Amino acid sequence: MTSSVRHICGISGGKDSSALALYLRDRVPEMEYFFCDTGAELPETYEFLTRLEVILGKPIVRLNSERGFDHWFEVFRGALPSPQMRWCTKVMKIKPIEAWIGDKPAISYVAIRADEANRKGYISTKPNIESRFPFVEDGVDHEGVMKILDDAGIGLPAYYDWRTRSGCYFCFYQRKAEWIGLADRHPELFERAVAIEQKVLLDAGVDGNADFGDRAMAGRQYTWSGGETLVQLRDRRTEILDRHADALARAKTARRNIPLIEVLADAFDDDDSAEQCTVCAL
Ligand code: SF4
Repeated sequence: MTSSVRHICGISGGKDSSALALYLRDRVPEMEYFFCDTGAELPETYEFLTRLEVILGKPIVRLNSERGFDHWFEVFRGALPSPQMRWCTKVMKIKPIEAWIGDKPAISYVAIRADEANRKGYISTKPNIESRFPFVEDGVDHEGVMKILDDAGIGLPAYYDWRTRSGCYFCFYQRKAEWIGLADRHPELFERAVAIEQKVLLDAGVDGNADFGDRAMAGRQYTWSGGETLVQLRDRRTEILDRHADALARAKTARRNIPLIEVLADAFDDDDSAEQCTVCAL
């Protein structure tokens, strides 16, 4: 008999949700896996999902917003999404998830780890969706997640070589050094992000060479990264990479004997934001 309750597990393309999917594969055989595809994810994420599907032995349902970024960008009158106005998550992730779930009772498994219990993931406010936190309940921490991925023979998505979080290539939560990583690894995607930003500046009549430094917050509505355009950011490449190397060294000193990936997660440059997307980056 088919259960009347759906069991669902969202995969962001990040290590924690991927490990949770593997962790639950045999524990919850009726699990339905899903991935919200904004159409702007990194090539490494798509490649990783294909490998993950093979190990899970079932497809990961791709949930697409009915319209892509360009459509919503127009709807929001050419305003870049930002931490203050995160329309992208709402229309390109949460809405498609809630439409897919519908009104049937569902249990949503969320990949918050035991060592970050005060972090939030996608927790629906819909009354038919109950959230569970298996890693918190079972005490699975960062080390446990890495072991699950290693034991499954999948390891980490390749973008972890240069970026610490999953999500869209243009994600405004990206750190300065990660934008440089995007320019190096995927120059065509970096150029696309530049083109979107240039359009915003042009439409707003803002000089692309303006110094955004004095009004970093105001600048957020014109630029993907705080305080400067992507062109200006790329011109500061050496300075940004040097500062990032310093931040890494500081984080390593502060927290000895921890894996590099955790050091990276802690290594904020002076002008980076520690915020991240609570839906997209688990
Ligand atoms: S990854 Fe970043 S840009 Fe993409 S939907 Fe999430 S918050 Fe928005």
